[in-house]
Amino acid sequence: MSENSCSTGSCGMNQNPEQIARQRQVEEALSGIKHKIVVLSGKGGVGKSTVAASIATKLAVEGHRVGILDVDIHGPSIPRIFGVKEQRPGMTEQEKMIPVPVTDNLKLMSVGFLLPHDKEALIWRGPLKIGLIEQFFSDVDWGELDYLVVDCPPGTGDEPLSILQMIPDARGIIVTTPQGMAVEDVQKSITFCKKMNMDLIGIVENMSTFQCPHCGEAIQIFPGKGGELMAKDAGIPLLAKLPLNHNLLEASDNGKLMQAFKEMSPFDPIVEALSSLEVKQPEKKEVDTMTAAAPAAASRKDDRIQTIAIPVDGNGMLDAHFGHASAFAFFVLDTQKKIVVESKTLAPPAHEPGVIPTWIAAQGTHVLLTGGLGESARKIMVDKGVDVVIGVAADNAEKVAEDYMNDTLNIAGNQCNH
Ligand code: ADP
Repeated sequence: MSENSCSTGSCGMNQNPEQIARQRQVEEALSGIKHKIVVLSGKGGVGKSTVAASIATKLAVEGHRVGILDVDIHGPSIPRIFGVKEQRPGMTEQEKMIPVPVTDNLKLMSVGFLLPHDKEALIWRGPLKIGLIEQFFSDVDWGELDYLVVDCPPGTGDEPLSILQMIPDARGIIVTTPQGMAVEDVQKSITFCKKMNMDLIGIVENMSTFQCPHCGEAIQIFPGKGGELMAKDAGIPLLAKLPLNHNLLEASDNGKLMQAFKEMSPFDPIVEALSSLEVKQPEKKEVDTMTAAAPAAASRKDDRIQTIAIPVDGNGMLDAHFGHASAFAFFVLDTQKKIVVESKTLAPPAHEPGVIPTWIAAQGTHVLLTGGLGESARKIMVDKGVDVVIGVAADNAEKVAEDYMNDTLNIAGNQCNH
């Protein structure tokens, strides 16, 4: 196994079992969401929340099912923008929070709903803030969504860091204004996202120009070509240039953003600016040779953190005879970072029909990689939600785990027909 060093802990090497369990809860909570978008900015006040809300509204007006998660604990303004500041989330029987509906296809959850006073967040200490963020990601019942737009706290500190760690498959949009200082801050955000391996959709330049409410003329208020130059330098698309627009200001400050969008003409400068903003992610290709041997069960192979089980002999080699293996090696993998987070080898219980498959499932196994496997054992595991890959060639178990992560498993065919 290769040595990994990571100062942020984001690679998973420093994760303890509790963190791994929490990561799994977050994955579970977000499993019904197709696209996750995090809206970031290098500093506050550049219009990040307004842009996040506008993107969510645009997507909802287009007919997508959209959620917006406001984790900007320093200034949770999304409920105000949508005029639902006084509302509170409901609770499911499983004690998950139900987001507040704005329309049939737009719902929101905000840290602001949990604060008795607007300024409360300012006195919160770091660990409490991080704990709240984690709770938000695991304890909200989003149901099925096409898009979740996350309004992230500004900057590149612990809070955005923990958010990016929790949703490693999210893609980012960075908001800036054209002034020099904002640009410098945003460059830090770009570096931050790159370090965290986050795909960037692009940059939105906000308040690019001031649009006169009387004559409609666009006046350049900030000098320079901030967003444009930065996007070019970083090789990231400039998604939109939003003018400083009186209607947008009034609508978002008075809780009428959705109504305003619905009433805007297609030629409105805001609608025009956002029309080119494309956030759709290319669909994943479903070409996967490993599933050929796997059952038609709900696959868990898309989970980021996975536990895999491999039957092994006394030398740590994959044992082709599942039922007679002296031990099973269990590896907890971070499949995104492609690293082994934890490993252990356990002796199985006595070989009685159905006992070992049940025991393997009870270890929290996502995937069994085995040389041979009988049909009854395979069926028991499939029924218990374990993906099964049969026919894996004998090799060192740790090497097999790494091959699995790298999609280079050597499949030799089922070595057992009983
Ligand atoms: P941030 O989230 O970066 O702190 P906000 O989105 O809360 O910033 O915006 C700060 C203020 O600027 C709000 O009053 C908002 O309505 C206003 N604002 C942001 N972008 C625009 C815009 N393009 N046109 C008009 N007002 C805007």
